Amino acid sequence: MAVAPIPFNRPYATGREFGYIREALDNLHLSGNGPFSARCTAWLEERTGAERALLTPSCTAALEMAMLLADVGPGDEVILPSFTFVSTASAVALRGATPVFVDIRPDTLNVDPERVDAAVTAATRAIVAVHYAGVACDLPALTRIAADHGVPLVEDAAQGILSAHGERALGAHGQMGCLSFHETKNVGCGEGGALLVNDAGLIERAEILHEKGTNRSQFFRGQVDKYTWVDLGSSFVASDLSAAFLWAQLEQAEDITRRRLEVWDAYHDALEPLERDGLLRRPVLSDECRHNAHMYYVLAPDGAARDRLISQLGDRGIQAVFHYVPLHSSPAGLRLGRTAGDLTVTDDVAGRLARLPLWVGMEPADVVRVTDAVTAAVR
Ligand SMILES: *Cc1c(COP(=O)(O)O)cnc(C)c1O
Repeated sequence: MAVAPIPFNRPYATGREFGYIREALDNLHLSGNGPFSARCTAWLEERTGAERALLTPSCTAALEMAMLLADVGPGDEVILPSFTFVSTASAVALRGATPVFVDIRPDTLNVDPERVDAAVTAATRAIVAVHYAGVACDLPALTRIAADHGVPLVEDAAQGILSAHGERALGAHGQMGCLSFHETKNVGCGEGGALLVNDAGLIERAEILHEKGTNRSQFFRGQVDKYTWVDLGSSFVASDLSAAFLWAQLEQAEDITRRRLEVWDAYHDALEPLERDGLLRRPVLSDECRHNAHMYYVLAPDGAARDRLISQLGDRGIQAVFHYVPLHSSPAGLRLGRTAGDLTVTDDVAGRLARLPLWVGMEPADVVRVTDAVTAAVR
């Protein structure tokens, strides 16, 4: 009997998405900053503690806004990990500035604060921390380093919805935080994102950049009597149709996280004996981090073992996938960025990491199939 394949990801729908999209049509407000956007941003502000949340078409757009807000330009440098998605670096390069790639820590796979500190130069204009797998970076250290050097800390919290460090949500620690609602993230609307502005002094300008460089928000609040072009900006507003879909997901975000955590915890328990026998390494959580089960990855002993693992899972209909090609060795990274220090952990981890299927709706039997297949592949 053929068994059903287990995909790496399956976007989840709560069932309320169509109803809210219908409601958006009835509202006759389909463009951005409408009633559903207001609900989503109020939820984000309440849940994260951010001063202001702005919905964007993607996390990539939110990162681009963050670089504009940080006044990053030609000749400037922005420090970030090489082990991240392209958008973290492309937002910097789009401003004509140089992404400076530093290494990650071998435990959490998050940027190493000592490497960040060592990479600071007179040209450093911002630091971007990426919370890999929704697990918090060493935020106290990074916050201190950014403050010591007088530059903003931007959090790429694309994977971090409903994760926290201490009492505070990821994305709400730095001056700015960026979230993603892409279909591969825990909570999504196909393509979507948000900029969290945590520094009240940046809110007014953030609203202007968001609205294509106009003071439209001030106009609608009655603060100016006509609206006009006042600054840089772009089409950074998400439509209310996206927000309607997103609202259905945000309403269920706690439930989605809980269900993902059940799968994550089941993987973690089942794979413990393999780690004890030195056959693979499981994820390491950081101190004071409450994570959101965005991802379950394993580190094989070497690249050949990782490739074998992925292919043997594939033979059993289970889709496991590797992750980032380190940006410092990518064609655009080589051309547009530079490195600071060696990137041995990044190169090592990128070659050995495999991500296992994790989505809402995976049954306990699916998890057992995956862990049995991992066990058979590595033993
Ligand atoms: C997904 C992701 C992004 C990009 O998010 P989009 O919403 O697809 O633009 C950026 N950074 C990281 C770390 C991501 O995981």
